[in-house]
Amino acid sequence: MSFFQDMISVFKKKELLFLESYKESEGVYSFLFEKEKDLTWKAGQHGLFTITNKKIKNPTRPFSVASAPTENIVKITMGISADPSDFKKAMLELKEGKNISMSGPVGSFHLNDNSPSLLIAGGIGITPFRSIIKQLEAEGNRDKQQIQLLYMDSKKSYLYKDELDEIAENTSISVTYLDSRDDLYQEIDKFTYQYNGKYYIAGPKSMVDSVNAYLKNNDIPKRNIKRDVLIGY
Ligand SMILES: Cc1cc2nc3c(=O)[nH]c(=O)nc-3n(C[C@H](O)[C@H](O)[C@H](O)COP(=O)(O)OP(=O)(O)OC[C@H]3O[C@@H](n4cnc5c(N)ncnc54)[C@H](O)[C@@H]3O)c2cc1C
Repeated sequence: MSFFQDMISVFKKKELLFLESYKESEGVYSFLFEKEKDLTWKAGQHGLFTITNKKIKNPTRPFSVASAPTENIVKITMGISADPSDFKKAMLELKEGKNISMSGPVGSFHLNDNSPSLLIAGGIGITPFRSIIKQLEAEGNRDKQQIQLLYMDSKKSYLYKDELDEIAENTSISVTYLDSRDDLYQEIDKFTYQYNGKYYIAGPKSMVDSVNAYLKNNDIPKRNIKRDVLIGY
């Protein structure tokens, strides 16, 4: 999506009806909202979410939409520590029937061709990839596009694991769980050896920067790498 489309999209604020929230794992929660008919996004994009149920300072944060457009629901998943920001306190206080506002969708972090693609997630950076592979699953991965997901989490606390395993079982998409950088780089090397493909990296800044540097050192052209830095971790 172009910069200008993003600009137009940001000005389109929608009120989303809160449906429910639940704990995904220790310190990680998902929030579900009703999807209005005219709201859609490209799997992997993010929205700008604003707290409207109470007055707080800095009420807006970007979050990847973790659901696929075909799921007909807006899902966001976030890390919430024991001492949360006012924004996250307000999220936990959301009650059924209340609203949150969303601007967007924005961003160019989505698949844009049928190249073999390596999706590299670090921790909470799995959120845009859940959307992407759920969407591919729903569409039946028509072109049998070669998609591999590498999911790195040093604490081995893998979000959406049951869903990801099911997708890996029922589609040609492969999912590999990793807990060390060395293993991650080994898997990246295997993909690079086999394919002239695209690389999508999402996670905290330090992780995205180091994987990006690794790819560059291995002569992967910049145009084949897309990054989504989840600022704030
Ligand atoms: C495109 C995108 C997608 C994202 N998707 C997700 C997601 O799916 N799940 C998720 O949990 N988080 C996601 N984030 C991060 C999210 O927006 C919050 O920043 C994060 O959850 C921390 O919020 P907080 O309220 O806990 O902490 P905050 O109060 O925001 O602060 C956390 C720390 O980050 C610093 N910080 C905050 N904003 C910035 C900034 N703009 N630049 C530099 N430093 C900053 C603060 O100083 C502080 O040290 C995403 C961010 C981006 C940019």
